[in-house]
Amino acid sequence: MSPRRGSKAKPGKKAAPKRSPPAKKPAVPKRPRRGRETARARKERVAEIIARLHTEYPEARISLDFDNPYELIVATILSAQCTDERVNMVTPALFKRFSTPDHLAGARPEVVEDMIRSTGFFRNKTKSLLGMANAVVDRHEGRIPNTMEELVRLPGVGRKTANVVLGNAFGIDEGIVVDTHVTRLSNRLGLTRQQDAVKIEQDLVKIVPREEWTDVAHLFIHHGRAVCKAPTPRCAQCVLSDICPSSRV
Ligand code: SF4
Repeated sequence: MSPRRGSKAKPGKKAAPKRSPPAKKPAVPKRPRRGRETARARKERVAEIIARLHTEYPEARISLDFDNPYELIVATILSAQCTDERVNMVTPALFKRFSTPDHLAGARPEVVEDMIRSTGFFRNKTKSLLGMANAVVDRHEGRIPNTMEELVRLPGVGRKTANVVLGNAFGIDEGIVVDTHVTRLSNRLGLTRQQDAVKIEQDLVKIVPREEWTDVAHLFIHHGRAVCKAPTPRCAQCVLSDICPSSRV
């Protein structure tokens, strides 16, 4: 049989079977130049950042110890200007003695102050704890509310604490917790140019998929503690160095 027209096979030789083109690998987002990234490209890059950090830190979760929303709201109030490790040393005795908002609402301030002294700012924190507990008893029948609107009306509870409680105790992705690590990483990764927590959160919620709103904070906090440290990031060991505009490698 003569070769077909257009075939490059020589007479007498069989035409090589056509190979299907190799499957395309998903493109790795490029490292952006500052100010030159489209919104779509940024969304793709943030998805890649989150995927890589999930692989790197599969166990990333909140490091405060708690068993219910009441315990988490107390631990989060105590964690202001204090390490989570220190808070976790103080809370077991506190939760044992005041196991519900009702118990805490009736506590004597000096007793609470003594128990939380080592977390710093213990007088203000005691005021917040007792104010929060009394408001929960008076307005919510002793149950921690599960909406942003109600939570931020409690004494001592701001948007950050409310986001922590909603995301980690109720499983509600209502916003993104912005702390010092999230602030630093979001800026270094070129996801925001803001330093104010509320504005950073507004930038992040536009590009982070909603189902990742709670996890992204844990991932950034873990990466910030382990690799993207302040003041000197360890870019040579960073899994994001090829897609980070601040990479030093
Ligand atoms: S490449 Fe460097 S600056 Fe960028 S996230 Fe990694 S450690 Fe941080």
